[in-house]
Amino acid sequence: AKKRRLPKPLQYKTEIETNIVKSRKVIEALRGALIEETLDVHYQPIVAAKSGELKSVEALVRWNSEELGLYPPASFIPLAEESGLIHKLGLYVFRRVCDDIAQMPDLKVSINLSPVQLRDSTLVDAFATILDETGVSAEQIEIELTEGILVTHPDIAKARMLELKRIGFSMALDDFGTGFSSIGYLRLLPFDKLKIDRSYIMDIEFDSEAAAFTQTIVNLGRALNMSVVAEGVETQEQLKIARLAGCDLIQGYLFSKPLSLACLKQWKQGPQDT
Ligand code: C2E
Ligand code: CA
Ligand code: CA
Ligand code: CA
Repeated sequence: AKKRRLPKPLQYKTEIETNIVKSRKVIEALRGALIEETLDVHYQPIVAAKSGELKSVEALVRWNSEELGLYPPASFIPLAEESGLIHKLGLYVFRRVCDDIAQMPDLKVSINLSPVQLRDSTLVDAFATILDETGVSAEQIEIELTEGILVTHPDIAKARMLELKRIGFSMALDDFGTGFSSIGYLRLLPFDKLKIDRSYIMDIEFDSEAAAFTQTIVNLGRALNMSVVAEGVETQEQLKIARLAGCDLIQGYLFSKPLSLACLKQWKQGPQDT
């Protein structure tokens, strides 16, 4: 049966309105989740490329909403950024991670920082306070940034990065290769780590350009004294090529999906059990 369609412009307008209403609903639900503290944080293992040994974990926020079900961060983080909720969410995740690792001083954790948070001049003090309150050392934590902010606000980004480094955090450049920026800034900014985006690793087996790109990033990282992570490694073949290219660290479903804190503790005992 054919659906009765509205005239094009009207239909389009209605679609936009529906989306706005939907977004508002999600934002309100997220606001509630932050008040009720029902957001969760999961941890994905990052292992040494050669030995497979656990080196660190990446903290990833999880939202299992009563109304919306398991709602992915790629969908709600942009809404949190638009609505300003990202500041509260970012501090919530940071505190949650500190609470979780306070009893695990050997565990290194990386945390994603939104570019919107980086523009907040009170951010570094807020982090320092949480570190104090939880007794966690900044050396345990790495901050992951994407390159967007480095292009749009290079001065703010650099100044804030230096502040973060001064308290003891290390810095990683996330999703490398997806932005449109020149690589010149890499030399000027204090990154400790480069994370090659999953889109390259996905193609690494079949696309010689993706493999060449990976090799180039590794060389660049070497030259700049940064370690290089391959993100999203799912197969043995991808692992093999990433190793050959000289990636130092591997993150991906091949080793583990993001895990709850309890599951991470088990995984550390013996990854083969999960
Ligand atoms: P990201 O920072 O690039 O995080 C890696 C994403 O790739 C995670 O998705 C992870 O689950 C997924 N992943 C890891 N290995 C594999 C693999 O082998 N295969 C596939 N298909 N996926 C893999 P997730 O948790 O859904 O997060 C999506 C994005 O949401 C993150 O991308 C990050 O940009 C953002 N995000 C997540 N948590 C936070 C947070 O606490 N704060 C902020 N600001 N952003 C966050
Ligand atoms: Ca990340
Ligand atoms: Ca990434
Ligand atoms: Ca990503």
